[in-house]
Amino acid sequence: MRISRIFLYDEPSVPEIKINNLAKFLEETLGIPVLVRKNFFLHFKLDSNTAYKLASSRVFNPHSPFEPHTPTEEEINFEEKSFGNNSESSNIVLYDGFEIQNIVQNTIPEEESSQDTFHIAFTTRLGCTYDYEDCRYHGRAVICANPAIISTTGIIEAPAKPRAYYLIMQHSISQGLNLDALKDKFRGKFLEYHDTNLDKVVRGYALQAIFYHLTSEPFCDSKDCILYNAHWQEDLIHAQINLGKLCEHHRGILESIKKHE
Ligand SMILES: [Zn+2]
Repeated sequence: MRISRIFLYDEPSVPEIKINNLAKFLEETLGIPVLVRKNFFLHFKLDSNTAYKLASSRVFNPHSPFEPHTPTEEEINFEEKSFGNNSESSNIVLYDGFEIQNIVQNTIPEEESSQDTFHIAFTTRLGCTYDYEDCRYHGRAVICANPAIISTTGIIEAPAKPRAYYLIMQHSISQGLNLDALKDKFRGKFLEYHDTNLDKVVRGYALQAIFYHLTSEPFCDSKDCILYNAHWQEDLIHAQINLGKLCEHHRGILESIKKHE
């Protein structure tokens, strides 16, 4: 598998992604052209049919597998009007990640659907995938496929915060919880909405999606590699912000892919 060009779709409500810097980073890392477009659903014009499908892919019960939902008029209108208003930490809407991926895939015109054209769409929508082992949905930062979907909400919400954070939160709920004071105590230990480090974090997720496409292996076992599949915010910060680079093994893979092009 090879990639000859990449399209990035911005999420303008989260400017901290700094999409032009990401494009430059990917161009330098991969040696192929990377083009930036506006939000996916703005670029391809979100019609009422697509809005209906997006609203149908909402998840209402995180403990059972996906069942298509019959959306209300209000939910369809919400999708049609909103490109990035899910970024608040209260009232997060859950979507089935594979349903969203399907909708995005079916929107891309045929002339841009060849496998050597890779698409990465940023969104505030939180895609989740159902895990049949523990019988529940999990929020995802990235849905690896072509097109790949990177959720800015998923980056904040999917990897877990430090254990101590949850312990103190549970403990202090009984005594009246001050979430801001709690966040202050743990500042820097997890990402927050509109975090200024988001531009570094998205590099790792974009590369994970690209490596999945190129090699079917998106992740690395090394906690020091930007491809590490972090389940904890602290690991994410270490691999993608503090270090922010590929391990030797993955640098080698990348070099051999570039050589064979
Ligand atoms: Zn690696």
